Amino acid sequence: MTDRLYYHDSFLYDFEAEVRESTPGPKPALVLDRTAFYPTSGGQIHDTGVISTKTGKLKVTEVADTEDGRIVHYLEAPVDLKPGTRIHGQIDARRRRDHMQQHTGQHVLSAAFIRLFKIPTVSFHMGDDYCSIDLETPNLTKDQIESAERLANEIVLENRPVEIRFVTRDEAGKLGLRKIPPTERDELRLIAIQDFDLTACGGTHVRQTGQIGCIILRKSEKVRQGWRVEFIAGQRAVATARKDFTTLTETASLFSAHIYDVPQQVRKSQEEIRALRKQREQSQEELAEAQAAALLADTPESNGRKLVVRTFADREINLLKLLAQRLTRLSPQAVALLATRAPQPSLVFAQSPGQPFDMSALIKQTIATLGGRGGGSKDMAQAGLASADGIEAVLESIAATLRS
Ligand SMILES: [Zn+2]
Repeated sequence: MTDRLYYHDSFLYDFEAEVRESTPGPKPALVLDRTAFYPTSGGQIHDTGVISTKTGKLKVTEVADTEDGRIVHYLEAPVDLKPGTRIHGQIDARRRRDHMQQHTGQHVLSAAFIRLFKIPTVSFHMGDDYCSIDLETPNLTKDQIESAERLANEIVLENRPVEIRFVTRDEAGKLGLRKIPPTERDELRLIAIQDFDLTACGGTHVRQTGQIGCIILRKSEKVRQGWRVEFIAGQRAVATARKDFTTLTETASLFSAHIYDVPQQVRKSQEEIRALRKQREQSQEELAEAQAAALLADTPESNGRKLVVRTFADREINLLKLLAQRLTRLSPQAVALLATRAPQPSLVFAQSPGQPFDMSALIKQTIATLGGRGGGSKDMAQAGLASADGIEAVLESIAATLRS
C-alpha cells in the first residue's frame, strides 16, 4: 500500500520518498512508499509533476490507483531505479489547485441541490475544460439551477472551514452522511464543510470554501438517469468568463451593438435574411420566366420543335434548372441544352413532355466525353462536370444530332 500524503494535506506539493518498484517499459512507471500525487479516482483526474533523483528529473504524465492500494506514477521516459532509491517528488501545484477548486466546488454544489430540493448527485465528472454532476431527478428548472448556484456561492463567500476526518464505518453510519461509498475498508475519510455538508471522499479539497473562489453553473441537459449540470469553479471560472466576454464582444462588434443587444440583433438579421431569400426566390422565378420567353421567341422552330442551346459564363445550377422548367412549361415544343462554366461547371438538359428524346441518356453520353457525375429522367437530367473545357463544342454536336 502506498502512503497517501494528500489524504492529510492537499496543499503538500513537495515530498521525499523511496522507490518500491520500477517498471522500465513499455509503459515506464514507478511505485513509491509514499506520495503526494493524486491518482485518477472518484471523478477527479490525476496530478502531474516531476520526480527527481540524483541522476535527473522524470516527468510524471499519469497517476493511477491499483486494486491492492498501490499508486503507480507513469513516466514520460524509460527508467530503471533500484528499490530503496531516494527521490524528491513535486506535483504541478497550479493543476492541483484547479482540481481542488473544482472538486470542493462540486461538494458545495451537490449539497446545495440536496439542501434546496433534496436532489441527490449520482456522479461527478472532471474534465480538462469543464466539470459536471449528474443529478437524480426527472425535472430540473432554470430557477432551481439559479437558486443552487446562488446558495453555493453564498457558502463560498462565508469562507467555511473544510475539514478532513477519519471515522469507522459504524461511526459514519450515525453521522448522516450525504454519501457513503461501497467499500470493504473499515476506516472512512470524511470531508466536512462546516454546518453544510458531510460526505465520504478520497479526493483533494481546499481548506476554506473561500478558496473555491466562485462556482458558475453552465449547460444543463437531460441524460438517461436524470439531469447533467456543467459547472466551473475558481480560476477556471474566471478564464471562462473572460473567454465568453471576448466572444460576445467580437459578436457584438459585428452588429455595432452592445453585448446585451446581441440576441435581438441576431433575430433581426435572421428575419432580414428570410425576407431577402423570399424576395430573391421570387426575382429568380420572374427572371427565369422572362428569359425563357425571350429564348423561345429567338429560337426558330425546326421539325416541329424549338431547340434552345445556351452556355452561361456564371450561373448556379438551380437557376439553370429553373430556366429549363420554364422553357419546357411555356412551350410544348421545347428541348433545352443548358450549361454553365462557373461557379461549378454544370449541365441541365430538358424537354417538354411528349418530345421523343432521352435527356438522361444524353447526359450520360456527355459525361462520358467531358467527365463528371449526373443523371435524371427522360424529360430532365443534370450533371456536374469536372471542367468547363469543351462544353460548347459538345453541346453543339449533341444539338446537331437532335436536329438531324
Ligand atoms: Zn471530494
